[in-house]
Formats: sequence, C-alpha cells, structure tokens
Amino acid sequence: MVKKRKNSGKGQSGNNTSIQCSKCGRLVPRSKAKRVTRPTRLMEGVIAKELRQSGAIMPNGQSSRWYCVSCAVHSHTVKIRSSADRKKAGKL
Ligand SMILES: [Zn+2]
Repeated sequence: MVKKRKNSGKGQSGNNTSIQCSKCGRLVPRSKAKRVTRPTRLMEGVIAKELRQSGAIMPNGQSSRWYCVSCAVHSHTVKIRSSADRKKAGKL
C-alpha cells in the first residue's frame, strides 16, 4: 500500500498540530512538514580552534527547522520522486 506519510496523516489523537514553516511562514500539519536538524556553532571559529587545542571539550549546538513541502523541495532538502519510486516503501 502506498503511504504518503509515516503516521498516515494521523497524530496520536484528533487533529495534527500545525507548524509554521521556517522559510515562508505557511502553516502545515506536523506530519507533513519536513524537519531539518543542523549543527550550529556556539562560538567563533578561531576561538573554538584555540580552545580545542588547549584541550577544552566543546559543546555541540543543534538547531532544527521545519519546512513546508514546497520550501523543502525548493531548497533541495527533499527530492521529487517519480511515480514508480513513490510506491516503494522506505524512508518517508
Ligand atoms: Zn515554506
């Protein structure tokens, strides 16, 4: 069976909560939105390098952004799959 979304578009109870796209601000259902998590720098590169050389342990920062399908496709986060590929099971 073809599945569009991981949870078949249903949340745990009732309606999906809406999430605002980080790029265009459109409201999209949480199950439909694409989440991108990227590491962030907490300090400047030169300072971080010096601290690393002196033996300090650096904390890693992460920031996650939610995108609507249009913005995810436009920013090459998600690729458009052919109709045959869409029927294959795999990562949704
Ligand atoms: Zn968007």
